[in-house]
Amino acid sequence: MAHQLPAGTPTGLFIDGQWGPASNQAQFEVVNPATGQVLTQVADADPSDGRRALDAAVAAQPAFAALAPKRRHEILMDAFNLLHERIDDLALLMTLEMGKPLAEAKGEITYAAEFFRHSAGDALRISGGYQRAPQGGARFIIAKQPVGPCLLITPWNFPMAMGTRKLGPAIAAGCTSVIKPAAQTPLSMLALVDILREVGLPDGVVNTVTTSDSGGVMEPLIRSGLARKLSFTGSTPVGKKLLEQCADKVMRTSMELGGNAPFIVFDDADLDSAVEGAFLAKMRNMGEACTAANRIYVQRGIMTDFATRLTEKMSGLTVGPGTDDGVNVGPLIDQAARDKVSELVSDALERGATVLTGGQQSEGEGYFYPPTVLSDVPVDSRMGSEEIFGPVAPLTPFDTEEEVLAAANNTPYGLVSYVYTTNLDRGLRMAEALESGMVGLNQGVVSNPAAPFGGIKESGLGREGGTVGIEEFLETKYIGIAVAD
Ligand code: NAP
Repeated sequence: MAHQLPAGTPTGLFIDGQWGPASNQAQFEVVNPATGQVLTQVADADPSDGRRALDAAVAAQPAFAALAPKRRHEILMDAFNLLHERIDDLALLMTLEMGKPLAEAKGEITYAAEFFRHSAGDALRISGGYQRAPQGGARFIIAKQPVGPCLLITPWNFPMAMGTRKLGPAIAAGCTSVIKPAAQTPLSMLALVDILREVGLPDGVVNTVTTSDSGGVMEPLIRSGLARKLSFTGSTPVGKKLLEQCADKVMRTSMELGGNAPFIVFDDADLDSAVEGAFLAKMRNMGEACTAANRIYVQRGIMTDFATRLTEKMSGLTVGPGTDDGVNVGPLIDQAARDKVSELVSDALERGATVLTGGQQSEGEGYFYPPTVLSDVPVDSRMGSEEIFGPVAPLTPFDTEEEVLAAANNTPYGLVSYVYTTNLDRGLRMAEALESGMVGLNQGVVSNPAAPFGGIKESGLGREGGTVGIEEFLETKYIGIAVAD
């Protein structure tokens, strides 16, 4: 059955509290990756639209910074509640534009809403300090202030959660923003922004531009000096380019970039839980996650058992359009993503890996790729160093802790690592030595709004969520006061 977009789905630009077309009336197509068919058209902003959006954010900044924190809290909580009330329509929208099965789309919306609830709490708790100068004769007030107008750029793989992870703390901190979703999945963000409008977010506080020319629209905004912060989630190569652009005006940045997560299973691990963890770390979002297990290292003695059980789980999955009942695995985002997965699998096979299940592109419409397990993947294969971003689990045997630690850290990325062991000493030793911003110790999912999400090395700068997430949107000001002691 062909599914329609929910009635009233916004497709325009949202600037200064108003929905409207691009100034040149241009639009671009949004495609359903399960069919390859056009779903709808959305406004295609040009640089002048981007500038209008930033001007609106700049104009709204002083009043929004002055708004009572309690009001910011209420806006975020009202939006949290509406996200839950509308979850069915929002999930359908997300599945149609991005491909993930409806159950996963609902999971993402719940996760996305949690960032609003978490940030709503933060809005009430922004605090500073008061200190006596060490030599006497003065006091210091340490004040926290909003950074100022922000530019927010999000990817297609979690089209709503990557938005609330930035908009939540920005709103809580009192920052206005221009948010630009990925051209492949603009609809979830537009629906989210409409919810913020509906719950009374003041005009100009959040502005959204959709565009088929992200570089052309965003670079002048970054270089304008009018925005004080860029928060970006996306690939490492684009992140590096944006960091260079930000250097010009010394803009603050948060960079949530690519990953290449090692997933390590020692022979003392609880095997059921390790297989389940690997399955989750691999298959969440069809493998299209920065946290996806990209390299699965299994200690040699348990490799056969582990591989058999994982293969059984992966081959039992149902692939199909995410809107169909019983589907576990939706399509990849586009043909280029599917070709990249195929290329990486061919490369591993040429270097001696073996297919345990899957491994062949599906025929027919839509960008489907079957759940795949490969064994004996050599460490020097391309998937050892490149993000797979698809449902392919490459298994590589190892013998010793030292050997696997060196292999795991042998990457410029450092987002997340996973370790399965029942030996607490070894678990903590590994968790401390692994070069990544996050470690899943006997757990295959690390994303939680209450914890600081982010990477080291070329996986990024800064953290989202946890107690530190809001700091990314706050400046620290020290006010020195002369006092006659
Ligand atoms: P991407 O190509 O880097 O795009 C990310 C965003 O940047 C999109 O909105 C894109 O818009 C925009 N963009 C691209 N070029 C730009 C430019 N020159 N100037 C300004 N904006 C530009 O990444 P993606 O393929 O969408 O997302 C997948 C990547 O994101 C993976 O590497 C994944 O690991 C990473 N990711 C990281 C995290 C994390 O928290 N660390 C979370 C999720 C995803 P258009 O697509 O419309 O051009």
